[in-house]
Amino acid sequence: MNRILVYKPVPDDVLAYLRSHAEVVQVDAAQHDAFVTALREVDGAIGASTKITSAMLDGAPKLKALSTISVGFDNFDVDDLTRRGIVLAHTPDVLTESTADTVFSLILASARRVVELANWVKAGEWQSSIGPAQFGVEVQGKTLGIVGLGRIGGAVARRAALGFNMPVLYTNRKPNPQAEEAYGARRVELAELLATADFVCLQVPLTPETHHMIGAAQLRAMKPGAILINASRGATVDEAALIDALQAGTIHGAGLDVFETEPLPADSPLLRMPNVVALPHIGSATAETRHAMAMNAAENLLAALAGTLTRNVVNRDVLRK
Ligand code: NAP
Repeated sequence: MNRILVYKPVPDDVLAYLRSHAEVVQVDAAQHDAFVTALREVDGAIGASTKITSAMLDGAPKLKALSTISVGFDNFDVDDLTRRGIVLAHTPDVLTESTADTVFSLILASARRVVELANWVKAGEWQSSIGPAQFGVEVQGKTLGIVGLGRIGGAVARRAALGFNMPVLYTNRKPNPQAEEAYGARRVELAELLATADFVCLQVPLTPETHHMIGAAQLRAMKPGAILINASRGATVDEAALIDALQAGTIHGAGLDVFETEPLPADSPLLRMPNVVALPHIGSATAETRHAMAMNAAENLLAALAGTLTRNVVNRDVLRK
């Protein structure tokens, strides 16, 4: 029977499912030394939100499969896993709609100042009918620029084009004909997207190529009235440059679900800016979606160990070895 390490809490029924097929060891990845020791004695591991380094894998000769409870896989060195013959599985699709909802919440909350004004009401500041000082900016009909129009970007484009009558621009390395046809999305260079969009929304994976792809120069290229939305990974944006741009009024505001350091440090200037909506990385965080992700990742892991996994594989080259 395979031994499996569960390094992030999973729902009881998912744990029971794993236990019915394998011997399960549970060690929270926060207990670093115990986690690394456990990793060295198992055939597979399932978890999330922990960087798995090459050094951790050096002493893990039995390890055949890793299953992340996420679609993003920037916590792994994929080439290294492939060299070692370790399958990496992830959970695309099941989280697409809930994450797109988070993106749209950020768009609406930033534009209409939902969080700022809700706090204003709670603070007892609502003393007479509101005026221009409380007005937001319109969302419908505005131009949305999606940097990385894949699964989640596509679900955001659908909400924008069909629900809010928004023209959609996007940048991808390859065209997305389905989004072009269904939502009238137009593929442009990043420079044109930044200069044109009222909302610039990042939905790229974090890779060496996308690291800090939005920095000081890109923020300067945005319209002064534009709002930056990031629900990809914190490091796709140079956060120091973003703070400077927000303080200088280079852009209108930001809606952020992800940060370069998470949890966001309490002394971050972003927390003191009324034109910033900051969320604690809740992209996919509904009870239903988190359950579906955990079950999906458990199924992926068991199938990978059985040699039958054909979908949700990040490093397909391993299967061909
Ligand atoms: P996806 O379907 O793979 O979409 C990613 C898109 O980014 C693709 O269209 C891809 O197109 C584009 N892209 C990749 N590299 C690029 C580059 N260098 N320049 C421009 N475009 C590039 O992935 P997804 O399922 O939509 O997820 C996207 C990301 O969202 C994940 O990797 C994850 O980091 C993040 N995410 C965050 C949360 C959260 O909780 N906030 C939740 C889920 C996912 P090309 O390959 O043609 O370039």
